Amino acid sequence: MVLLGAPGCGKGTQAEIVSQRLEIPAISTGDMLRRAVEEGSELGQRVQSIMVAGGLVDDDTMAEVVRDRLGREDARRGFLLDGYPRTLDQADTLEEILAEQDRGLDAVIHLDVPEAELVRRALARQRADDREETIKERLRLYHEKTEPLIGYYEARGLLRRVDGFQSIDRVAADLLAVA
Ligand code: AMP
Repeated sequence: MVLLGAPGCGKGTQAEIVSQRLEIPAISTGDMLRRAVEEGSELGQRVQSIMVAGGLVDDDTMAEVVRDRLGREDARRGFLLDGYPRTLDQADTLEEILAEQDRGLDAVIHLDVPEAELVRRALARQRADDREETIKERLRLYHEKTEPLIGYYEARGLLRRVDGFQSIDRVAADLLAVA
């Protein structure tokens, strides 16, 4: 499954809940990259300045990260992707990676939250990459690069929409109902 939504829509929180309930790993590419930066690995050094600026890490690097992660044992029964794909090219790549593994997506869930609420939540969050300029850039890139994925997955009959502007429990219940 893929969880799709703007920065600040609550994807991370919901991914953890659904992951526990369905007993499949929640795979957050943002968390993986942040860990790489903390560890100071070669990958971390490469992506650090991009992340600080709120930019997107290049598709080839992300393909490597995701191919490796989805190939691991714990993802064999299923997985919940949070933060990938973020571009149409990444969506095509994901399809290729899953085809290599003889599987495909069951559902893509769009967690829908009004723009004003996204900005409010983002400003209330405290994280190293959450400067105001960074937040704006991340939202801009979401609209430009990631939003087209909604139509992409709708055309494939995979898209489910969940109202993300409700309590955490209500959103989780709605998510599990369509997952
Ligand atoms: P997130 O925690 O998902 O908001 O991701 C934090 C940051 O990691 C993003 O602002 C990007 O710089 C980078 N990142 C995470 N996932 C991706 C992706 N699929 N493609 C490109 N960059 C990504």
